[in-house]
Amino acid sequence: MNAQKIRKRYLDYFKKQGHAVIPRALMVPYNEPSVLFTGSGMQPLIPYLLGEKHPEGTRLVDSQTCLRAQDIDDVGDNRHTTFFEMLGNWSLGDYFKADQLPWFWEFLTSEVGLDPNKLFVTCCSGFPEYGVPKDTESAEIWVRLFKEKGIDAKQVEIGSEENGYKVGDQGGRIFFYDEKNWWSRNGAPKDVKIGEPCGPDSEVFYLFDHIKHNPDFGEKCHPNCDCGRYMEIGNSVFMEYLRSDSGFEKLPARNVDFGAGLERIAAAAIDSDDMFRISLLWPIIQKLEQLSGKSYESHTESMRVISDHLRAATFLAVDGVVPSNKEQGYVMRRLMRRAILKAFDLGIEQNFMEGIVPVIADLYHNDYPEVANNRDKVVEVLMKEEKVFKQTLRKGRKVLRDAYEKGYWIKTAEESDTGNQKTGRFRPAKQPILGSLIFMLQDTYGFPLELTLEEIALNAWEEDLNWKQEFESSVREQRERSQTAAKGMFKGGLGGHTLQHKKYHTATHLMYQALRDVLGDHVVQNGSNITEERLRFDFSHPQKVTPEELSKVEEIVNREIAKDLRVTWAEYPTKVAREEKGALGQFGDRYGDTVKVYSMKDPKSPEDERPFSFEICGGPHVDHTLELFEDGKKFKIIKEEASSAGIRRIKAVLQ
Ligand code: ATP
Ligand code: MG
Repeated sequence: MNAQKIRKRYLDYFKKQGHAVIPRALMVPYNEPSVLFTGSGMQPLIPYLLGEKHPEGTRLVDSQTCLRAQDIDDVGDNRHTTFFEMLGNWSLGDYFKADQLPWFWEFLTSEVGLDPNKLFVTCCSGFPEYGVPKDTESAEIWVRLFKEKGIDAKQVEIGSEENGYKVGDQGGRIFFYDEKNWWSRNGAPKDVKIGEPCGPDSEVFYLFDHIKHNPDFGEKCHPNCDCGRYMEIGNSVFMEYLRSDSGFEKLPARNVDFGAGLERIAAAAIDSDDMFRISLLWPIIQKLEQLSGKSYESHTESMRVISDHLRAATFLAVDGVVPSNKEQGYVMRRLMRRAILKAFDLGIEQNFMEGIVPVIADLYHNDYPEVANNRDKVVEVLMKEEKVFKQTLRKGRKVLRDAYEKGYWIKTAEESDTGNQKTGRFRPAKQPILGSLIFMLQDTYGFPLELTLEEIALNAWEEDLNWKQEFESSVREQRERSQTAAKGMFKGGLGGHTLQHKKYHTATHLMYQALRDVLGDHVVQNGSNITEERLRFDFSHPQKVTPEELSKVEEIVNREIAKDLRVTWAEYPTKVAREEKGALGQFGDRYGDTVKVYSMKDPKSPEDERPFSFEICGGPHVDHTLELFEDGKKFKIIKEEASSAGIRRIKAVLQ
């Protein structure tokens, strides 16, 4: 059964079990500035898992397109891609383990037709010190399900990572791990904050028994061993506890969050440990074989990277992202450029987006109307970036040649700036090509280091070994400058929901309104980005904001925080929110039929008075604004600058 069919069967099967099929969320989270991409099916549903009412009810199912930029270094292996689809189903205080596990099992074994003998499961071994018992409830369900297929499911204790997982898989079927099978927003039980839900999870693995265990990964093999024998295909998180001051208490309304990799299930369905052989990836590989005249067997890694990265870039373009030097656009650019460079390895020097993007679009054409509808635009966006990058490469080569011709040369290891100590040769006319120049080529021109080295070799310029140090320190400096900021953003998970993020998010709303109060209603949000250290906000305004105006904005924000505004939200039909109630939104944002609107209002003001801030947003926020002043902090604008034509950028902190 191919991947497209598996997706359809999945949605149909859970629909039959009373689930509402909800559309995928966009790959760029809607008004959620703390993460760059949607990285799981759960991510867009967090507010509902934390207790908000979902308009479609208590049973939801979808297939979510995900991007995990953080997995980029794993791409090239047989089972990771940055882009993948996650099949998800959720119970919002509705069914629990006794329904969910048998459904997943039936879907895998009857609908997809996987051989139950190749399936293995893991459960949570519990944390007695926190009063969290072993999840025997899930294990017993699994024992029964295996038994129905004539399989005697032996249970094995694996325990913690610290013990080195000394117990192996011999004869086992159900394995108990501790932290591996535990979920909370912040990880291990000791890190769960008071008031947060958490619980055990149960995972299903597929065994490739033709793969022999590799002892480099540990003495004995087990489902979470990284040797490749087992592949995780899906997991069910059971949110059944709430952390209270006295420990972990059972939640009255328990949720289920289930997520499985569509591509992984499709690989298991054809019993291939190489995920790239499935129907949503293999046609891309075949096209690459055709374009390059090389075989997948001889260029496996490059072809995997190219097919993944271009599939990701295609979907990003469908969702409106264009390559640029910041945020989502930056990641898209990086993915595309990496793919183009990898294509050079295959000998594909010609432009190939026009040939390959339609192949990718065809794979999704029937199931995602937005792919069909945006096809031409998407091909165009990718072709344009290809052209820009090729120009960049030409420019970079020229800069390098010019530098060489102007009298820069590349010093050898023995030579100092004043001459070669050993030979006495002295070349004062030539100066070394500096590491910082090479860095500049990469950083500003996007001309990659590999190509600089290639160019040096190609022209038989002497290669300097000393420049590397300078180059590396430039890279480090640059990283410290901009990448720390991006670090949290690549996580794509729940990392963005710390208290600090919430505070800055709330401060952003207040500042948006204050800017409109001071500058006028032409001020519209154009972008927002939050890190643990600061907020950043882009908005339309034709000229520089004066220092007087900035201090007025600061004053207003601090004044409103001091009133201890109450932060609440309500759901409205989008039209009502925007047109009747005048909720603020983001420039050019696409919204669904209903939206959440956050209000920040003085608790002492009359009930019918307009809240200070009223803005469409997915959350999360603090509950009341005085939280922003904790530890004697105040709101302060630290920078105002141009972001692009007609767009200003402000950075502000709580300090
Ligand atoms: P792994 O340890 O294999 O990287 P994970 O623990 O990161 O998986 P989850 O975050 O639990 O995975 O995601 C749920 C499911 O999504 C996984 O069971 C797997 O089937 C799939 N999945 C996760 N990451 C990837 C990826 N990079 N490529 C393809 N599928 C993935
Ligand atoms: Mg992972």
